[in-house]
Amino acid sequence: MIVAMQERATEEQIDAVIDAMVEAGVGVHRTTGASQTILAGVGPTANVDLNKFELLPGVLHVHRISSPYKLAGRAFRPEGTVIEFSNGVKIGGEQVAVMAGPCAIENENQITTIAKCVKAAGGAFLRGGAFKPRSSPYAFQGLGIPGLQMMHDAARAQGLLTVSEVMEISQIEPMLPYTDLFQVGARNMQNFNLLRELGQIRKPILLKRGISATIEELLLSSEYIMSGGNYEVILCERGIRTYETATRNTMDISAIPVIHKLSHLPIVGDPSHGTGRRDMVPAMAKAAVAAGADALLMEIHPNADKAVSDAVQTLYLEQFSELMGQLRVIAKAVGRTL
Ligand code: PEP
Ligand code: MN
Repeated sequence: MIVAMQERATEEQIDAVIDAMVEAGVGVHRTTGASQTILAGVGPTANVDLNKFELLPGVLHVHRISSPYKLAGRAFRPEGTVIEFSNGVKIGGEQVAVMAGPCAIENENQITTIAKCVKAAGGAFLRGGAFKPRSSPYAFQGLGIPGLQMMHDAARAQGLLTVSEVMEISQIEPMLPYTDLFQVGARNMQNFNLLRELGQIRKPILLKRGISATIEELLLSSEYIMSGGNYEVILCERGIRTYETATRNTMDISAIPVIHKLSHLPIVGDPSHGTGRRDMVPAMAKAAVAAGADALLMEIHPNADKAVSDAVQTLYLEQFSELMGQLRVIAKAVGRTL
């Protein structure tokens, strides 16, 4: 159930409604936007008498949430979620943020060279995997925490934020000091124990759509994180598996406006995994911005052809810098900045 409070509702009135909801046996999640507080009640609400809540002082209206995702649904935050990072960078606002870096952190020289390029081109995040989910157990599995430390140093030297993938619960704690945004990879989108644990930390989560997940399943997975009290979730369209073989995955650009309609959470486009092909990344990056993506995630490398993982879809640094100029034009055309 959703209880929308009146604009001028007092804290006492809000507290009284929360108490009444708790008494009715529902879990309460509160969000206070620029003008209004909304209380979402989750749990066994089927037998709760909504009329009773309509009559409480300060309440504007009460309704049942028909979608299976309660906290990720737009009704919880009609104005949309904006996530602000320690250095003031925002995701979900007017500016489209760019996250770029190698698929995997390989060595200090690689990551510092890339960090400089990301900064010079106007990116906000340095990405790089320290723990890599590889299809084969014999492929490079990542440098682990020492690699992540390396990336953090390179990022901070340029004033950039870091984003890196967490594959399992035991990695959360050691990653915390070096990670501004925790990525949950496509293969872990339904690792519910990991999602629950990420609901307990207070750092933003980048949740990638599973390889064969529907949008509803993606939103339900975000609900696992949010129900723990961590509302800072950013969704990511990274392509899904279809019958098409011309590209590695089929990038579902329509997921971007669909998610904006259904949910208040920001959405990121990942044209690198979305296509799996370097020559197609720029077109899909532009398409994602045109469709309303709040950020882009892209793989770049000075020796793209020789990257230890995902080489085929990785852009050269010059290609990335050139693309950033084009993306600025697209962003402006749709009323955003980049
Ligand atoms: C990655 O970002 O390098 C990655 C492994 O992504 P995904 O989980 O989307 O395959
Ligand atoms: Mn990759």
